[in-house]
Amino acid sequence: MLRPAANSGAASARAAMVEEQLQRRGIRDPAVLEAMRTLPRERFVPPRDRAHAYDDCALPIGFGQTISQPYMVARAIELARPTRDSVVLEVGLGSGYQAAVMSLLCARVIGLEIVPELAARAQETLSQLGITNVEVRAGDGSLGYEPGAPYDAILVAAGAPRIPGMLVEQLKLGGRLVVPVGDEQRQTLSVVTRTELGSTTEEFDRCVYVPLRGAAGHDED
Ligand code: SAH
Repeated sequence: MLRPAANSGAASARAAMVEEQLQRRGIRDPAVLEAMRTLPRERFVPPRDRAHAYDDCALPIGFGQTISQPYMVARAIELARPTRDSVVLEVGLGSGYQAAVMSLLCARVIGLEIVPELAARAQETLSQLGITNVEVRAGDGSLGYEPGAPYDAILVAAGAPRIPGMLVEQLKLGGRLVVPVGDEQRQTLSVVTRTELGSTTEEFDRCVYVPLRGAAGHDED
């Protein structure tokens, strides 16, 4: 299980982040709020930016990538509706923070990351925190990960040019894919639900994510 953070300054920054950035903007899921009140986000941020770990923004993690803004992490997870038994795929593991939040809410998370160095670093951070139900894999996740399918939920933490069809196919019936869809500058957080007849799509927040790479990403445009 997660070892609690010793640093009480971080604990109060975390409590303020949950109240001001999440609850005040309408995040209601108590499990998501509790997980983000518990998890030491500063451990997923490079040392020189630790003072900003609870700021209301994305932060650089190297290789041109970012750890997502806390609000977007909470919003995407809330829209994915994970439960205790869920098996979840995350495409774009990055720092591992979003996967770590989900690891506290569901049974198992598989995290795919296209930059091998980031995958290795995320694995190290997760291990140091005693998180054992996140499986880290280096590689292109834009076509999903067939060996772990079907999933209760799939979260894409990078902006896709269109809904990646292979990911929809790897959902269980009733499973939810949360993916930012748009151009490289701006996207709309979209939820695709797998149904008997195919799928339905709903659109939520406007957002800005780093571009999805790989076979179903912007590289192929
Ligand atoms: N969820 C992360 C956010 C990371 S930003 C966090 O909480 O820190 C998005 C990440 O997606 C980047 O690390 C980027 O390298 C990765 N990425 C982009 N395209 C990808 C692809 N096709 N497969 C796997 N990872 C990808």
